[in-house]
Amino acid sequence: MSTSKRFYCLIAAIMMLTGMATATGEVRMAVRPDPSVEVVLDPPYDFDPDQMLPRDFGDYFTQDHEVEVTSYPLLPGTEWENEVLVLKGKEEGPTLYLIAGVHGGEIAAWMTGNLVKKAGLKAGTLHILSPANPWGANRSPRTRYVTSEEDLNRSFPGKPDGNAAEMVADALFQDVKRVNPTFVFDLHEAATNVEGRDFLGNSLIYTSLEKMNDLYLDMLLETQLGTLTSVPFDFFSPGPAGSVNRTISELLGLPVITVETYRADPLEMRIANQLSIVQYVLQHYGLI
Ligand SMILES: [Zn+2]
Repeated sequence: MSTSKRFYCLIAAIMMLTGMATATGEVRMAVRPDPSVEVVLDPPYDFDPDQMLPRDFGDYFTQDHEVEVTSYPLLPGTEWENEVLVLKGKEEGPTLYLIAGVHGGEIAAWMTGNLVKKAGLKAGTLHILSPANPWGANRSPRTRYVTSEEDLNRSFPGKPDGNAAEMVADALFQDVKRVNPTFVFDLHEAATNVEGRDFLGNSLIYTSLEKMNDLYLDMLLETQLGTLTSVPFDFFSPGPAGSVNRTISELLGLPVITVETYRADPLEMRIANQLSIVQYVLQHYGLI
């Protein structure tokens, strides 16, 4: 890393640890855009990611590594059954877990998860749950919720005999606990600029930097320098109570990064930026 990069990294770390912390211990960087400017979410697009590969979006997963593909169900035989796909590379390596689209309406998140299902791996294992909320993703109009107002990302660690979101959360939480991955992705998208709520825009959210300090800061820095993503990403911490990020970080002690892309940006750009970050982390852990 160059001296200027190290310097920026240091500044980012200092901002994170001191200046940006609020009274509640939160840290944040994103600047809220002018709320009087109308925002169009999910601008129209004329391509079908189902028919595409990661490499159709840019320089992503271009190596043709052979991979063993298996799957297993969560909540099998129930109304809330979902499938975890497992990619296994030929060489030994760590296991990572990718959770995409806990909010069904956040299309670039689970479209990216679905694209990564078609990737090859040199080493290690990648569990992929995408969409993690197919019920919200398949409803018309799409929604962040599982049923009516049940928000999966406020329902962790869940309950086996709770409401639908709590049952789904419990099944996923127990599976992550069982798999005990080295790293967990949580792919989302940020939407509105509502007063009284965080404006997330493009951001990388963490609850604890323990076990991923260098990875997180290097990645954040690269987004700021324009060498990783087409827009700079901001940082936020912690994840909200009941979220994948907060719960898996705090209860399982695993490193989790929540990726948020901004739904007012073109879909192709959002998917490319999500792929950039997933690819970066997979390279970091030696899976590709
Ligand atoms: Zn979300």
